[in-house]
Amino acid sequence: GTRNSPLVLRPGIAEAPIYVPGAHGDEKDGVPPAVLSANENPLGPSPQALDAYRGSAALERYPDGGAEKLRAAIGEKFGLDPARIVCGAGSDELITLLIRCYVGPGDEVLQSQHGFLMYAITAKTVGASAVLAPETPDLLCDVDAMLAAVTDRTRICFVANPNNPTGTYIPASELRRLREGLRADILLAVDAAYSEYVDADDYSDGADLVRDYDNVVMLRTFSKAFGLAALRVGWCYAPAAVVDALNRVRSPFNVSVPAQVAGVAALGDAAHLDRSLRENKEQRARLVGALSQLGLSITPSVTNFLLVHFADATSASAANAHLSAKGVIVRSVAAYGLPASLRMTVGTAEENDRLLSALTDFL
Ligand code: PMP
Repeated sequence: GTRNSPLVLRPGIAEAPIYVPGAHGDEKDGVPPAVLSANENPLGPSPQALDAYRGSAALERYPDGGAEKLRAAIGEKFGLDPARIVCGAGSDELITLLIRCYVGPGDEVLQSQHGFLMYAITAKTVGASAVLAPETPDLLCDVDAMLAAVTDRTRICFVANPNNPTGTYIPASELRRLREGLRADILLAVDAAYSEYVDADDYSDGADLVRDYDNVVMLRTFSKAFGLAALRVGWCYAPAAVVDALNRVRSPFNVSVPAQVAGVAALGDAAHLDRSLRENKEQRARLVGALSQLGLSITPSVTNFLLVHFADATSASAANAHLSAKGVIVRSVAAYGLPASLRMTVGTAEENDRLLSALTDFL
């Protein structure tokens, strides 16, 4: 391991925790598991995206390193300037690249207490530390607490809106207040991975702030509502100087051909996206109702997953083990400091049936 190697690692790498992704489970007696652990789209991608992926077979050719067509399609779909878009191998890569550009040893990234873990983990790999600002009792990002936690060493403030694993969002006015309270030399990264799912008038994915300020970026992904997690494709909308920096540090062919063509096709299939969002909303409401009936409390979610609270950590981990034995795979959020809770992706009607019946016999 790292400890016995004579090679000299850069500060932070040996101490950085390794991200443990949601399990995908195994088939049991010919029955596939109900995978509710990674916030994927249970309907899968658009059939048009699948066709585009399957047709993208000139494997000896490098991709378009600038992802021109994908950026043009994103620009058109979301009304954004393609010159201000950078694509990445998932939004995870863009998180890493932003940290590489703006964060160094001894620096700090700021996020809320139960904010997405990759910000803190990635910060540690460059010898920086993560400062976690306390949340409200309802697990909402608390803008005053965030601003109070800013120090001279703060370089990036990450806000997932909506946040994983809480499923909550902060209103546009709060997001703007956060940006207005930050120094100009601190980058505000608004991670809107789940933005498609949000149906609220007071929501902002951060694009308006990117337009108004030169220290705000918005991160987006094709992994969630667009159902393309396997292909690893995300993007960010950023000020020109940030775009320039990202293009210098990213690898020249960071998004594969299948990812680029499937992404373009996915954007063109509005009907599939609508269907995905509609189904999610319906099934989410059904799960919230049924889980409440079972006596569980649930943090109100605007996303495709629920944070479900148990009596204590023992009960949550027993529920997790029971569900897993029944072929229903959900996510422990103990690593987020939420050992008495489990995160459950909203699945298809059938998957949710299995979740509810397994939980009913557990409780
Ligand atoms: N941000 C948030 C808030 C997420 O939940 C995830 C997925 N776990 C990501 C970013 C990374 O997604 P991807 O790299 O697949 O785009």
